Amino acid sequence: MSTTIVLFRQDLRLHDHPALTAAAQRGDVVPVFIYDPEAAGEWCLGGASQWWLHESLVSLKNTITKLGGSLIFRHGDTLACLQELRKEVNADAIYFSRQYQPWSPSLEQSIRSHFDSEGVSVKRFPGTLLHEPGTVLTGSGTAFKVFTPFWRAANKLTAASPIALPSVSWTGVSIQTDSIESWRLRPIDKTGERDWADGWDTLWTPGEDGAQRTLETFLEAPVEHYAEGRDTPAKRYTSRLSPHLKFGEISPRQVWAAAQQRKLSAPQWSSAIDKFLAEIGWREFCYQLIDLFNEMPNTPFKGQFGGFPWQNNAEHLRAWQRGQTGYPIVDAGMRELWHTGFMHNRVRMIVASFLTKHLLVHWIEGERWFWDCLLDADIASNACSWQWVAGSGADAAPYFRIFNPIAQGQKFDPAGEYVRRWCPELADLPKKFIHAPWEAPPMTLTSAGVTLGADYPHPIVDHKSARQGALDAYEFIKKAS
Ligand SMILES: Cc1cc2nc3c(=O)[nH]c(=O)nc-3n(C[C@H](O)[C@H](O)[C@H](O)COP(=O)(O)OP(=O)(O)OC[C@H]3O[C@@H](n4cnc5c(N)ncnc54)[C@H](O)[C@@H]3O)c2cc1C
Repeated sequence: MSTTIVLFRQDLRLHDHPALTAAAQRGDVVPVFIYDPEAAGEWCLGGASQWWLHESLVSLKNTITKLGGSLIFRHGDTLACLQELRKEVNADAIYFSRQYQPWSPSLEQSIRSHFDSEGVSVKRFPGTLLHEPGTVLTGSGTAFKVFTPFWRAANKLTAASPIALPSVSWTGVSIQTDSIESWRLRPIDKTGERDWADGWDTLWTPGEDGAQRTLETFLEAPVEHYAEGRDTPAKRYTSRLSPHLKFGEISPRQVWAAAQQRKLSAPQWSSAIDKFLAEIGWREFCYQLIDLFNEMPNTPFKGQFGGFPWQNNAEHLRAWQRGQTGYPIVDAGMRELWHTGFMHNRVRMIVASFLTKHLLVHWIEGERWFWDCLLDADIASNACSWQWVAGSGADAAPYFRIFNPIAQGQKFDPAGEYVRRWCPELADLPKKFIHAPWEAPPMTLTSAGVTLGADYPHPIVDHKSARQGALDAYEFIKKAS
């Protein structure tokens, strides 16, 4: 009888899991998750993602237990842990889903080289993307660097259909496993007293069931408003699938298939659903870009940005991180991030533009902060999005397009509902001044109970001169290149 180790990674689900299905067809399956933070070097999981990982693993373990198996947890070097486990269970194969982080290919290669020499079959399977990097190509066979033609070409290919839950003969019940609690993944703040993640479990349901429910709920109704509502941070018109997708609790093929079904039952929503699927397309595009340019998390895609005159003022960075810049839409976004592990996409763009253009702080600082604070922190989407906003990425927003945080607030949060939620000290300001409290007359501030500089900061930079500073910096690299 054959025994296959299935190494779970960022694919914490049982449905549409090609590696698990193939393993189940061979014989017994030993499921394992190895926590190997060092494999990713400086990009090891951030604090918020660690919380999600913990919850998601508990959920996967419970599901496998109900099915008669036992998910094994090990901590340490992936190859060393696999070597040990293989001997313990006498496995003749190791299967896993392929991953696309810059550090994954060498890890996968080292597993293959080691076990090849022992006669153990090592196979990796797709399952994380709709289309593998290198399969959506231009007419001349090169990778796309612009999203629209990429997505047009991707839509001409057929995405494989999701695979049903296989019948699995689990084994490994008596094998030694770590206690996941001992990994201390759930964040505690520096004083050790207050759990940073307090309340997150009321906002999120990590795990495969939670992912399915999130998708169903979204396709049931909110998707109707997606096309116009996706830019309204006060409302819940986007799917909130990103952390589920990041940890592979649901596959993009499942999302794709469910969305196509929904188009059949609600054809009037087809264009909204296509808009939503195009965002799944951005996720694909980011992975394709990082496959093309592995250094994306640390290095500007457009080389001339290497000489950009960043100012990196530590106080400004700190004010941005804490939501104390004096620009309400920016501060609301940064506080939403800290309190919920999430930030609405429109606001992500505004705060990223503010950091890189108004404050001239290097995008990598923002990328790192997001990496630590986002539940959906994803190496490809995060790096590409930061570079997109900063202007240094492929298909990036031009550097000279600088978001005006006041106008953006007025346009996308016209009544100030989002700002009032996250900056309660401004809640009683009239709509007219909610995005620019410093413009309010003293009487208005007094009756709203706001003392600028005490309850809420004065703007840390002046919008007009900051904008000019950013344009000057851009001129500098244009001349230098
Ligand atoms: C500066 C910045 C950093 C970002 N960092 C991340 C990150 O670390 N992880 C991450 O998943 N997304 C990131 N995004 C993209 C986007 O903001 C989130 O994917 C989105 O807000 C998640 O919410 P949702 O699931 O409700 O999205 P929906 O609008 O419902 O979209 C559906 C799915 O499509 C994908 N998606 C949507 N927009 C994008 C996008 N612009 N780029 C890539 N994929 C997208 C996500 O997987 C998302 O779950 C970032 C955007 C910016 C501007």
